[in-house]
Amino acid sequence: MTPTEARSDQMADSGIHDWRERFSAALMRTIAPPLAMLVRGEGCYVWDDEGTEYLDFLAGIAVNSLGHAHPAVVAAVTDQVGRLAHVSNYFASPPQLELAERLKRLTGAGPAGRVYFCNSGAEANEAAFKLARLNTKGGRRTRILSLHDSFHGRTMGALALSGKPSMREPFLPVPAGVEHIDATFAALAAAIDDTVTAVFLEPVQGEAGVIDLPAGFLRLARELCTRHGVLLILDEVQTGAGRTGEWFAYQHEGILPDAVTLAKGIGGGLPIGALVTFGAASELFQRGQHGSTYAGNPLVTAAANAVLSAIEADNLVANAARRGDQLRQILTGFDSPLIGEVRGRGLLIGVGLTEPVANRLTAAAQSNGLIVNAANESTIRLAPPLIIGDAELADFERRFGLALANL
Ligand SMILES: *Cc1c(COP(=O)(O)O)cnc(C)c1O
Repeated sequence: MTPTEARSDQMADSGIHDWRERFSAALMRTIAPPLAMLVRGEGCYVWDDEGTEYLDFLAGIAVNSLGHAHPAVVAAVTDQVGRLAHVSNYFASPPQLELAERLKRLTGAGPAGRVYFCNSGAEANEAAFKLARLNTKGGRRTRILSLHDSFHGRTMGALALSGKPSMREPFLPVPAGVEHIDATFAALAAAIDDTVTAVFLEPVQGEAGVIDLPAGFLRLARELCTRHGVLLILDEVQTGAGRTGEWFAYQHEGILPDAVTLAKGIGGGLPIGALVTFGAASELFQRGQHGSTYAGNPLVTAAANAVLSAIEADNLVANAARRGDQLRQILTGFDSPLIGEVRGRGLLIGVGLTEPVANRLTAAAQSNGLIVNAANESTIRLAPPLIIGDAELADFERRFGLALANL
């Protein structure tokens, strides 16, 4: 008996043939049943195990900035994995150093800026949470402000920061000190004073359904944080790396934060996160206060360098702004009573639906060869690769139009 025959024999014995059944028997019950079994991707398209093609307008939730199997990422990862994949943080590596300097430049953190690498968005926010704890200014500060409905990740610190009580509730107690407020000028002004150590904000609340902050809110937050010695910490895990039509969403507002957290789009599919600090915030962490074995290893930093240099070389930040405008025009041009307001910025778009049918519409889109995401029951989230052009937009218009018509 060959190994393959032995394996299929075993599977036959256990009575499990279908991948959905195997998934449901083997994977932890933390997520909903998968929508398809994907086996291959190229550019803005992916294919499932039955050969069905999908136009991918979710990009692994704003992760695959360059789409799938981009030659620059394939080359960088292939070269680096054959050279040196991991060294631990007892050692430096050229891609790590290059990426840190690149992030300082792109974020505008300048010469005083510093970068801490980690492996995910939640970990970047954990690092930022610890940074906030260090901003004591003599031991009087304990309060951290964050927004209702915000999402900062699933680890305990990130859960404490997230403004979704239902996500937190089964896991209480979480680290103390975080207060959630409404995204209004009055709420922010009332809550902030010299007992606050940090304010955490997403420039666009992606997981909440692509909700924009009120106009001027980031500038007011910057002003109040500066006045009270509070760290302004922006979570750009979803909005960063060009997605909104600027490298980072705060650049639309002409402000700089004290720290920004990054992940998703900077790695193009490899797991990497980063905390970038600005000015005096760069002096808070001291030796031995934080770290992670894999963090910033040569393999993932080589991938991120390839992603960010392709975004720069191919003008994909400008492309995100331009294609985002075109996508908005397509969306508002559909003759469908279902489509309400269109939110978000650049290529992070929330389509507000006039009825709670987002899951049905997502399924209809999938039946028509299109991947979009139901961020909640009345919002479709679009976050396509930053490389989309005329052909992908035309294909989106056709496939989404069919989905609307089939509903
Ligand atoms: C996705 C996301 C996170 C969590 O990132 P993970 O890599 O899933 O841990 C945190 N903040 C925001 C704004 C996100 O969109």
